[in-house]
Amino acid sequence: MSRATLPEQGKDWPTLEAEMRERAGGDVAWRDGKLAVYIFNAGEEAMHVAHEAYGMFISENGLGPMAFPSIAGMEQEVIDRGLSLLNAPDDGFGSLTSGGSESIYLAVKACRDQAKKERGLKPGEGQLIVPRSAHPAFDKAAHALELEIVRVPINMDTYEADVDAMAAAITDHTIMLVGSAPNFPYGIVDPIPALSDLAVARDIWLHVDACVGGYFAPFAEQLGADIPAFDFRNPGVRSMSADLHKYGYAAKGASTVLHRSKDQGMHQTFTFDDWPGGHMYTPNMAGTRPGGAIAAAWAVMTHLGVDGYLDTTRRVIAARKIIEDGVAALDGVRTLGSPQLGLIAFEGTKHPSGKILGGMMARGWFSAFTTEPSSMHLMLSPKHLETAPSYVEDLKAVLAELDDAGESAKEASVNYAG
Ligand SMILES: *Cc1c(COP(=O)(O)O)cnc(C)c1O
Repeated sequence: MSRATLPEQGKDWPTLEAEMRERAGGDVAWRDGKLAVYIFNAGEEAMHVAHEAYGMFISENGLGPMAFPSIAGMEQEVIDRGLSLLNAPDDGFGSLTSGGSESIYLAVKACRDQAKKERGLKPGEGQLIVPRSAHPAFDKAAHALELEIVRVPINMDTYEADVDAMAAAITDHTIMLVGSAPNFPYGIVDPIPALSDLAVARDIWLHVDACVGGYFAPFAEQLGADIPAFDFRNPGVRSMSADLHKYGYAAKGASTVLHRSKDQGMHQTFTFDDWPGGHMYTPNMAGTRPGGAIAAAWAVMTHLGVDGYLDTTRRVIAARKIIEDGVAALDGVRTLGSPQLGLIAFEGTKHPSGKILGGMMARGWFSAFTTEPSSMHLMLSPKHLETAPSYVEDLKAVLAELDDAGESAKEASVNYAG
């Protein structure tokens, strides 16, 4: 059996550092701007700030606000900034979580527990209605909380949620509607104002999943992006999820879940004192929470400020436009819908998208893949403004290669047949 065990003798840091650098040698060269998923790269300086701030508070614990008023203060400032950016009312409530999945879980839990308390929702009764493009974190939450989840087909011309179809899916058991700003597969913002109208009319909780857009769309909007109001400005929006470790450029392990009111938000929290350890209150799922992640989120936000985020957002949108224009100019690829933010998906129209992905990967580009329809999926960073032109060049070369292979394959089969 090849299960690893502890080394008999410990090793010093220089030895470990060398070993770990070697291990990292097999990873994608993300620092070069050739990775368009998993990492959000706002450049050396922001990365340095996150790294230093994380290290400075690496031992502190978010569970102990009285012991670490530093961490508690930074955490509350981060939450307040999120509430302000997303236009939550004065009574808004939020908490800092480990990531988007936890933020979504907590919003669904709060919704379910409020429904239990206020409308007598019984076990096994609650139902969520989400667009087909919603993140699987909703299914994970529904599974854990024993709720039914219904994925409703989206409009396949615009790749937006189909509000009428969602309305038609509502039953007496529906406790939550979901819209994304933007959705992950296509990078397109759902019609949140129309979903809000529906939610208000039917008195159902609307959650806006802005995990990937929450710290991007507010700045894109200021820069003139053509997106609907996607946040608490819509009266039907009761909660939002927004990840700091995506376009907030914070270190990983940082997201926010935000509620329209404190009363509502309290349904996600947990208090307990029937044990010998005394009173315990936690705002989210975790007990111990990393001081480093909280400090890094605060530090990066404070380092960038509004002008910094406007600049990173402008660069990401410019990178997306280079790729979008490149795709439009090339024969054999087509962008899905009209992406407005930092994500773009495009499909092969002459060759399978999987082959295009293979060709791009052979040239060192690493991205995700959307399956309906099969398409390339890029989530862009400011760093990509430098590399987007060479991405388009390589895409052109890959398409030419596939054209040639197609021709020679045709010739070969003609020859063979002959
Ligand atoms: C990333 C993402 C999530 C999940 O966030 P994690 O931090 O990976 O748990 C949820 N929804 C959307 C739209 C996302 O992009």
